[in-house]
Amino acid sequence: MAEPIYLDHAATTPVRPEVRDAMAPFFGAQFGNPSSVHRWGRAARAALDEARERVASCLGAATDEICFTSCGTEGDNFAILGAWRAARTRGRPVVVTTPIEHKAVLASVHHAVVEGAVERLLAVDGNGTVVRGSYDDVVRDDVAVCSVMWVNNEIGTVQDIPALADVARARGVVFHTDAVQSFGKIPIDARRQAFDLLTVSGHKIGAPKGIGALFIRRGTPLEPLMYGGLQDRGRRPGTENVAFAVGFARAAELAVVECAAECARLGALRDALERELRQRIPDAVVHARTAQRAPHILNISVPGTDSESLLMALDLAGVAASSGSACQSGNVNPSHVLTAIGTPPELAAAAIRMSLGALTTDDAIARVAQLFPALTTKARRLVGTSA
Ligand code: PLP
Repeated sequence: MAEPIYLDHAATTPVRPEVRDAMAPFFGAQFGNPSSVHRWGRAARAALDEARERVASCLGAATDEICFTSCGTEGDNFAILGAWRAARTRGRPVVVTTPIEHKAVLASVHHAVVEGAVERLLAVDGNGTVVRGSYDDVVRDDVAVCSVMWVNNEIGTVQDIPALADVARARGVVFHTDAVQSFGKIPIDARRQAFDLLTVSGHKIGAPKGIGALFIRRGTPLEPLMYGGLQDRGRRPGTENVAFAVGFARAAELAVVECAAECARLGALRDALERELRQRIPDAVVHARTAQRAPHILNISVPGTDSESLLMALDLAGVAASSGSACQSGNVNPSHVLTAIGTPPELAAAAIRMSLGALTTDDAIARVAQLFPALTTKARRLVGTSA
């Protein structure tokens, strides 16, 4: 039996051996609590400080601008609710976002609304790109925080974050970007780019699940989400996860160093897969095809199929893909992202996201290109007979 093929790197990635090695001492002798004053504590503090410095340098940030979090979801919640709560008494009641954000952002915005915020949604075009006129109209001086994701996790669309952040800064609006899918794919430099808050997550770049970071530009008003000890200057109380912070720093450095070469490799593989599939299945629809897209995501619908049956058929054939974001799997509602970009419901219900990464080889892509058309023919027959 052929090796199974993992095409779900946007959901999560395997922990890199370099990351595992870097973390190992902290599951052994170096188990100290960074807040303790004795030698174990001091060693843990030094490792944590160094990890923070290394992550900062990957983002062009100062060390005190990095707050380690438990995941991307926490970073998004902290950024949006923290910025809204800090600004609400200062005549800025509005929270701005797009309809194609990850649920971590959309649900945070909805919670801000429960607390009294006014939500304003930006318009996106059929590729999922923010409509610039809408942005310029909506981002006004009554806005507490504006959150726009850098790369969309379902369709791969890239937003022009540096330009959007410049406008927000000129209008005194705190600008947050969810960079969970862009970290390691698009260069990030807080010295040259004007975002105030930026979320990253470890498990998308070869670190374990359970670690991420929020970049918080110096001077950005932000209320903490949790209350307790004085860790991370009181921004995020709780004993720090030293091992995972060290692992995350290693993964971040590798992602930055390998960014250009890996993006070129993945982009070529994604384009080859897309070309083959469009040739072999002429009525297949590639979502956001003409957008500027990150190199690791391909989202495709074959008319007359449905995502769940096709995913199962792919799984039986040894190919792991997804119908959208992992959190939506098992949920039969069509993707909110595809709906927001105007995809007809029957096409949205057939969407398959294939996301490439470290485990993706030329051979794997050739095999999927060969397998996929036969599976879609079978899925079309199944859907046809059950209709
Ligand atoms: N934002 C985006 C764009 C994502 O793709 C994800 C995860 O899929 C998240 C946020 C949430 O990250 P985490 O799984 O680390 O909570």
